[in-house]
Parts: sequence; C-alpha cells; structure tokens
Amino acid sequence: MELKANKFMQSATIALEDIQLKTALDRGARSADVARIASMNETTDADGVRQQGRGAKLRALSDLPDLLEKIESNITGRGGNVLWAVDKDEVNQHILNICREHNLKFGVKSKSMVTEEINLVPFLKEHGVDMLETDLGEFVVQVDESHPSHIVTPIMHMTKEKVHDLFVNKLNMPPMEGPVDPQGMTKFARRLLREKYLEADFGVTGGNFMIAETGTVVICTNEGNGRLSTGLPRVHIAVVGIEKVVPTWEDFGTLVQTLPRAATGQRLTVYVSMFNGAAQDEGDGPEHFYLILVDNGRSNIYASEYTEALACIRCGACLNTCPVYQNVGGHAYGSVYPGPIGSIITPLLMGKENASPLPFASSLCGACKAACPVDINIPDMLLGLRHDLQNEQSPIWRLGLKGYGVAFSNPLLFEAGAKISAAASEAYTQITGKEKIDSLPPPLDGWTNYRDLPPFADESFHDWWRKNRE
Ligand code: SF4
Repeated sequence: MELKANKFMQSATIALEDIQLKTALDRGARSADVARIASMNETTDADGVRQQGRGAKLRALSDLPDLLEKIESNITGRGGNVLWAVDKDEVNQHILNICREHNLKFGVKSKSMVTEEINLVPFLKEHGVDMLETDLGEFVVQVDESHPSHIVTPIMHMTKEKVHDLFVNKLNMPPMEGPVDPQGMTKFARRLLREKYLEADFGVTGGNFMIAETGTVVICTNEGNGRLSTGLPRVHIAVVGIEKVVPTWEDFGTLVQTLPRAATGQRLTVYVSMFNGAAQDEGDGPEHFYLILVDNGRSNIYASEYTEALACIRCGACLNTCPVYQNVGGHAYGSVYPGPIGSIITPLLMGKENASPLPFASSLCGACKAACPVDINIPDMLLGLRHDLQNEQSPIWRLGLKGYGVAFSNPLLFEAGAKISAAASEAYTQITGKEKIDSLPPPLDGWTNYRDLPPFADESFHDWWRKNRE
C-alpha cells in the first residue's frame, strides 16, 4: 500500500463505504476518546495540568538549539554516540553505517513513528539487514505489509476478526473456535517474538522524550517490548525527532502524566524506560548506544509561523476525537501522521503542495484543540495552511468561496439569499411531500450525498428579530 497525501478525497470516499473500517473505528477511536475524557477529569485541575504541559513544551522549543547541544554533551560525556541527520536519507545511512561497523544483521524495533517517517525497515531490508517490529500493532502491520493508521494504535483500522484471519493465513496460527480471543492471539504473537529478542544483534527505538539536563532518552510502552529491544541486543540505536527534547525532569514529570491519560485514558504508561547510554562497568545493557537526532524538515517548521506544531507529544487524542478521523480512519490521510495534527505536520514536512487537501480535511469544530494535552491551537494552524494553499484550490472552489465571503459580509445579500433558500426549500417539500431535503444538485450534492438537509424555517431570524425586539 502506497501512502499518498494528495489523494485524500478519493481515499476518504472509499473509506466511508468500508463497513469493517467503521466497526474498527467505532470500537477504537471513540472508546479511546471516552477513556481520555474520564481520565483527564480524574485530575484535580485538568486544564492546569494541560497548561503546565504546554508551558514545558513551549519553553523547550524556545531554547531548542541549546537543549540539543546539552543532550549531545551529556550523552557523549558518558561514552555514548550522538549523530545528527538533516533528512531521512542521512538517518538511514547513519543506521546502515552502524550496522556495517558492528556487523549487525538482524534487529528488533519498538514502536517509533519517526522510523515510519523515514521508511527505515524497507531501506535496511534492501541493504541486507532484517528488522522485526515488536510492538504488537506494528508487528501486525508488518505481517500485513501495510502501514500504521494511528500514531499510538497502529492497527486502529483493523477488527480483531481481521487480525485473526491474518494470523491464520500468514503465520499458520490454528483457527480459533467460537468468538475471536484477543488474548489468545497476543500470546501467539508473544511466543513468536520472544525468541527473536535473543537472536537480535541490535535494537532500534524512538523516544517519547529527551531530558536535556541529564541527557536521558525516555520511551513509554505498554507491552515491555521496548525494554527487551534495548536490554538484550548488543547495540541500541535511538532515533528521535529534535522536537522531543524537554529541559528538566520536572517538565518530563508533567508530560509523562498527561501523555497516557490523553492517549489511552491510562494513569501511567505500563513501562517508562530511560536510557543514559551504553552499559557501564557493571556490564548491564548494550555495548554501544547511538542517539540519532532527526531533523527531516523540523527546522523549517521551527522557523515558520507553525512552530507550535512541534509541541505535539504524539498522544493521538486529537485523532480519536476528530469527527473526520472517526469516519475515514488514518490511511485516508496518506501519511504516517494522520488526523488533525497530521493535517498540519504532513504538509509542513512533505511540502504543502504535496499534501494540499489535508488542511481542508477538518470541520474546524475545535474538538482537537479541546482534547490536546498541550493545548495546541490546531484549528488556527489549519486555517493558516488553508490560506497558504489558496492557489492550489480549483478556480471554481475559489470563486465559490469569494461569493460566499461577499454574501456573508453584506446583510442585504445575506437576507435575500436566506429568503430565496427558504422559498426554494418550501417548494421542494411541497412538491416532493418530504420533510427534509435529501437531494440537491451539484455542487451542493456534497451535503445531501451523506445526510439530509433540514428545510429552512418559514420565518427567518432577522424577520423574527424585527417583529419581536425592534
Ligand atoms: S496535537 Fe495534541 S492531541 Fe494531537 S497528537 Fe499532538 S499532543 Fe496529542
């Protein structure tokens, strides 16, 4: 499956017809959203915690270059290696060089969106290095030769029944009698994965946070696979976006509370693992530790008016709560980063013209901003990107919006339009005998193809106001 961000409209139309996807999203995204709200409300001051988290991230961004240098000096001071990478080719080349230097042939990887962003696994395979995904969702995606559809829950698009069929067909799992048992499938995958940790030469992780004051990389996982991927192999490579740095442990303390609550409704992620470098004298841990600091377009975002997008802690809450994501799922966005924050990050990372429909894939209802644990102003940035992309829109669309702008800023025109619409809607209901309008001509059929339009009121609000309040 190839991801194409410019094909959003076509992909979303197909996704809307997919009943299996709808079932999966109903079970996944909506229940995660409910869990988030319950968990955030448990805290004594949910908004205070959000603002504290926001402050920590914005402070980090304002001091980003210095904090990154601090990370580097702290890690190299303990014998670790820090490499910088401008783009995805450089990251991949760094990793391949490390593999060659240490004769690494097989690696295990815990979940990391940045390694999806740079297409690491296919790149290494092309160069003779095998890599196994160990996060259960990522493992399923790898077996399915597909892509994650969510930044926290990679198989948000799949039902447990579909995973069962995949395991039976691709991994020879004995078919289950009766209802599909997710625990049984997890045990099956776990048995396969356990042996692989012992065979692996190296482990690759991402990083949820980097704490500058001590040079510590932190990963948060729920399955323990992060610890096994880093503790057993002889080399650990952490691939982390430069925006993941926070200045202090205190800031980390705030964010590590909000991340799991916002992501899955948990009070704490099950495993919070911290890495300061390679094994020291006592011999515990990997022989070599590499941190690769990934730019890949982030500096451009940093220098733009969209810097705030880099405050994202990748919790996925804005995806789960978004009415668009809840209906079309992640693959429709054609990017590793779907949903509201993906509609900002993707055009900024890939070039706006390569992902031009995405900033328009939003109702601007504001649910994303309300859900975000660091209060990122997603709707404002979507509007900014729409403005930047206005020349990418079709002339008819632009003309329509111009007409809309003129009509809505002129009271006489607005009222005349409302009266004509009311008369037309009255005529429609009289002629068809229907209570609601269920079919409009193009281009207005975009509305009635998916929902009915209530008829206009006989009396407009303006008329009512003049009659009752003047
Ligand atoms: S923008 Fe906010 S809600 Fe969305 S993934 Fe990032 S931190 Fe979470």
